[in-house]
Amino acid sequence: MAEIVLDKVTKRFPDGALAVSEMDIQITDGEFVILVGPSGCGKSTALNMIAGLEDISSGELRIDGQRANEKTPKDRDIAMVFQSYALYPHMSVRENMAFPLRLAKVDDATVRQKVEEAAGILDLTQHLDRRPSNLSGGQRQRVAMGRAIVRSPKAFLMDEPLSNLDAKLRGQMRTSVSKLQKQLGTTTVYVTHDQTEAMTLGDRVVVLRGGVVQQIGSPQFLYDHPANLFVAGFIGSPSMNFVPATLEQGALNSALGKIELSDSVRRKAEAADAPREVIMGVRPEHFEDAALVEEGHRQGGASFSATVDVLESMGSEKYAYFSVEAELASTAELQELAADAGATDVPGAGSTIVSRLSAASAVREGDQAKVWFDVDSVQLFDPSSGRNLT
Ligand code: ATP
Repeated sequence: MAEIVLDKVTKRFPDGALAVSEMDIQITDGEFVILVGPSGCGKSTALNMIAGLEDISSGELRIDGQRANEKTPKDRDIAMVFQSYALYPHMSVRENMAFPLRLAKVDDATVRQKVEEAAGILDLTQHLDRRPSNLSGGQRQRVAMGRAIVRSPKAFLMDEPLSNLDAKLRGQMRTSVSKLQKQLGTTTVYVTHDQTEAMTLGDRVVVLRGGVVQQIGSPQFLYDHPANLFVAGFIGSPSMNFVPATLEQGALNSALGKIELSDSVRRKAEAADAPREVIMGVRPEHFEDAALVEEGHRQGGASFSATVDVLESMGSEKYAYFSVEAELASTAELQELAADAGATDVPGAGSTIVSRLSAASAVREGDQAKVWFDVDSVQLFDPSSGRNLT
């Protein structure tokens, strides 16, 4: 097991492209860290530098306290699992899993024992004599993991290992990966652009954008306290709604009406020296059908009326999409955010608000509905720097 430290690690490709810029991360022994961000943000490059598959342009990589920049991949004793599985089609599952041990000239008895042990952990025992072509996608991915774990490496590096699987299998494999990592306690760095994986798998999440670390923290911390607009928009699904607003004497004027801020939000905005023009962020679950909010509770929030464009009933809850009469995301920052996230339907990026309402809500598509939201959960952002002011 290993501690992995990236100290101002930078990658500039020969053509001048700056893929990773001064990345600082301290990964403790046994930790599960997720690198997440939109396509092209430098996730794979960062992972490849840790693996030794890509040179480090500047900065230092330390594995267990020792400089590793110049070490060969083999000497780093790290196992990598790829999205493509990279299994040998002409070999059986057993031979595929044994391959790294054979390369390391491990004796036959130990190879057999290690492969059978790994197969047991990964529930592959009954498939050991099959060829990869006779396995399902999930089983193939488990073989790829098995090949990584037989070596008992210091760390695992995983590059989008589940992205070739269908949604259901992906969910199952997510649970398996999480269990496996806990069981083995091996330091793991896992790359994904899927924020469900980021939220559920890791001890800590590193959010990257354009090669620059935006924030590092536990999934819940990033969700509750995003450092900036980018992290706020990227973490959480459906994503946070962003509404431009003007801050005046402790109240916000916005397309959702005039909102009296709660004392705590007001104090934070004052302490952060909030500008007059701000972006208000509200997560979908902080909205509710106003008809369902009890009288006593209603004072802690604000209401607005809007047309229900689309209603998605999920059984346990309802997603209601409202249009409001304003271009919600007129700022350049938000447009860029939407483009970066690769989504044309980023809530707030048009003039749509997405809300999560109780299943008991009686609103229907086309209705003019009254919607309540919890003012105390509102977050405010600086539209020019993106900084979270609350
Ligand atoms: P994805 O999720 O699409 O795999 P990523 O976050 O893993 O993306 P990287 O593959 O690390 O991103 O790429 C980061 C940046 O570096 C991108 O802008 C990419 O175009 C650039 N890049 C990657 N490899 C090279 C290379 N060999 N030469 C020049 N630029 C490169």
